[in-house]
Amino acid sequence: MNSKANLKMFKKVLVEKEVLNNPNTIHILSKLPKAKPIIIDDLDQYWGKVKKPYLQKRDNLNLFIGKKRGTLVKPAPDAYGVSGDPHYYFIHSYNCIYECQYCFLQGYFHTPDLVLYVNHDEILKEIKSILVEHPNAWFHAGEFSDSLALNHITNEWSQYWDFFKNNPKAKLELRTKSVNIKNILPLEPLKNVLLTFSLSPQDPSKEFDLKTPSTRAKIKAIKQLSDAGFQIGIHFDPIIYSEKLQIQYTQLINDLLENTNIDQINYFSLGVVRYTKDVYRQVELNYPDSKLHSHPYIKSFDNKIRYSRPMRNWLLSTVKNILLSKDVHESRIYLCME
Ligand code: SF4
Repeated sequence: MNSKANLKMFKKVLVEKEVLNNPNTIHILSKLPKAKPIIIDDLDQYWGKVKKPYLQKRDNLNLFIGKKRGTLVKPAPDAYGVSGDPHYYFIHSYNCIYECQYCFLQGYFHTPDLVLYVNHDEILKEIKSILVEHPNAWFHAGEFSDSLALNHITNEWSQYWDFFKNNPKAKLELRTKSVNIKNILPLEPLKNVLLTFSLSPQDPSKEFDLKTPSTRAKIKAIKQLSDAGFQIGIHFDPIIYSEKLQIQYTQLINDLLENTNIDQINYFSLGVVRYTKDVYRQVELNYPDSKLHSHPYIKSFDNKIRYSRPMRNWLLSTVKNILLSKDVHESRIYLCME
């Protein structure tokens, strides 16, 4: 992706006055040399203030650069991540350049416009203070965005590396559907920093994960990271019903295991497609003909829209059993949000 393509991606670039001289802002703008940044006082006065339909992200996407205020690091929801140690997520960005049809962001914000927060020093300060009480905590990036999709512009993770190197009990997860690893590969592989990939078999990925790199390209990126010694995590999430599920996931898992050192895959998390009511309404509106609607959903125990419990159990056990049949130890498999 070259800088021309980056500029094309954004109609306008708006920068908060307070972060204009922040080195991260300067770096991002240097990657968008043709942008004519508009200076604004306060991001919150502009971003999402006027409702903008989600699908305008296709041809009318703006980029905001600003400072995240308030709580920067928050406890993660229950059943998030590997059990045992406490889990937190931090907010370095809002929204995403990709367009997965089931993405919860379409019902979450009033706008698809992207925000990049640049006060990483303050995020790290908050992480540090949490570690005083919870030295083994996990910190997840990418709750409201993709951690690596714009890393060729932002290159923020190098700032986190030294911190996590000096705090080896704490763990950092960078979750992605991208293959944007050029700035990661030169970094030192650390045992406590995991690059984690959301993977689907090729056909459903083409059908539902619009604009994301192909599954083959993702496996190639995982191989490069694995060969270089990085720690990996795999999210088979969301699993979406297909008559060919067994064949598709067998193929996917074979491809993955043939290309990756299994000892570097810390975990496989499995989750079935699910939505809040609001998100599902948006999915129906934005993608009325999607094959996402081809199998019936129900309102579930937590008010989320899901498949019936027997169907969820079947999907999870089918994928889990394929993993077990390939000698993946059960302790490395966990079920997400069930
Ligand atoms: S990559 Fe993640 S954040 Fe981006 S559109 Fe897909 S599901 Fe949403």
